[in-house]
Amino acid sequence: MTQRHPEFDVIIAGAGPAGSFTAFALARAGARVLVLDRARFPRSKPCAEYLSPQASRLLSEMGALDAVEAAGAAHLAGMVVHAPNGAVIRGNFVAEHGYSAFRDRGLALRRVLLDAILLDRARAAGAEVREGIRVTDVLRDAGGRAQGLRVVRADGRFEDFHSTFVVGADGLRSVVARRLELSRTRRMWGRRIALVAHYENVGDITQWGEMHVAEDVGYVGFASVDGGFTNVSLVVPEQLARGASGDRGAFLHNWLLQRPQLAPRFKGARRASAVVATGPFASHAPCAWAPGAALVGDAADFFDPFTGEGIYSALRGGELLAPRLMEALGAARARDEDAALRTYDRDRRLEYRGKWIVERLINAAIRSAPAMNYFARTLEARQDMADLLIGVTGDFVPAREVLRPGYLLNLFRQPDFARRPVPNE
Ligand SMILES: Cc1cc2nc3c(=O)[nH]c(=O)nc-3n(C[C@H](O)[C@H](O)[C@H](O)COP(=O)(O)OP(=O)(O)OC[C@H]3O[C@@H](n4cnc5c(N)ncnc54)[C@H](O)[C@@H]3O)c2cc1C
Repeated sequence: MTQRHPEFDVIIAGAGPAGSFTAFALARAGARVLVLDRARFPRSKPCAEYLSPQASRLLSEMGALDAVEAAGAAHLAGMVVHAPNGAVIRGNFVAEHGYSAFRDRGLALRRVLLDAILLDRARAAGAEVREGIRVTDVLRDAGGRAQGLRVVRADGRFEDFHSTFVVGADGLRSVVARRLELSRTRRMWGRRIALVAHYENVGDITQWGEMHVAEDVGYVGFASVDGGFTNVSLVVPEQLARGASGDRGAFLHNWLLQRPQLAPRFKGARRASAVVATGPFASHAPCAWAPGAALVGDAADFFDPFTGEGIYSALRGGELLAPRLMEALGAARARDEDAALRTYDRDRRLEYRGKWIVERLINAAIRSAPAMNYFARTLEARQDMADLLIGVTGDFVPAREVLRPGYLLNLFRQPDFARRPVPNE
């Protein structure tokens, strides 16, 4: 190891799923880990709160799966997507394509419960956790290498924490990514805002999560979560959401009631939480490391809420990062530390590349009502194709299955022609 002996091997900014998994895996491997979060847990987080079937593998790895079940997580059998023209795509997690997930069902648990469970697992593995502390800057040595974090405490006092490595797991607007000049605005996504709330007594809620894509380029998702609540997450272009700045509750309610297919289901419903807003989502880091530092979870790259892959990707990112950081901690020279972090960045690309493409294609479709309507008609008629696509977003079917020329070609065929089987390249 290089000649540095700070109090901590790794300091992690952010105690969401990415920070908790990274801290858990590092502490379990024997590293001295400090996790800092500006919030105090349990804290909520605007999210549709659906965990893909494959996320259960990572929950199980952390020893958190039983606690998540015991907290009352709802089970989801698949997803149903409603296109503006009324076409309905129903994708099942258990299907005939031959792939199976760690669990047959997705889970849905309010983040106020889920994130506290995950953080407890990091603590139990030996990570030190300090809450109510906001990270403001990355400390660097004369050569520009990260060597700790500057924070501001609740009483306004600044303090410096030194470490051999720093991890930015501080979410969408990561301070660590910005201070290291790693984050970029992704223009092609446009600027969108999400409004999220929990409701009671929404009509006709089933074991399938639902997405309803609207003509005016917005969409809303519903899914059961614990406690009999339904999570309602609306995503709309920023200019439309300006109307929500006065009264978010009224904006969300009116948006739902103005859709004839949704309005009857909300007649007897009651909003059981405040409406929280988040966004815009247009940021990512083309490179997820810098000397002495790495990014993980939303701090590195944000997955669009439509595909519901963010929590899995955050946990999986921690699983990819921790062994590379252990390698870097054992390195004899700065050059070898950098090589380990560069390998993490490569691992991430290999892991997510296919999904990034699929996600961007889905995004392009939901931003254009004619495209969404066209593809939805095909997928409505082709259960096998719908199941494969939902399996990819469920993190257990490889993205290459839906990027094959045969699959893509069939997407462009209208239902009468699309009934032929997908050729096996
Ligand atoms: C509307 C919406 C719906 C979504 N729905 C889903 C879904 O259904 N399923 C799914 O898998 N994903 C979903 N996602 C994505 C998912 O929420 C994220 O991908 C996931 O939370 C990423 O985890 P993370 O640990 O990287 O970041 P976060 O969960 O955002 O955690 C970051 C942590 O860092 C802390 N922090 C931030 N700044 C600082 C600072 N300066 N100092 C100290 N601490 C700081 C925060 O308090 C927070 O605890 C959705 C996202 C949105 C916006």
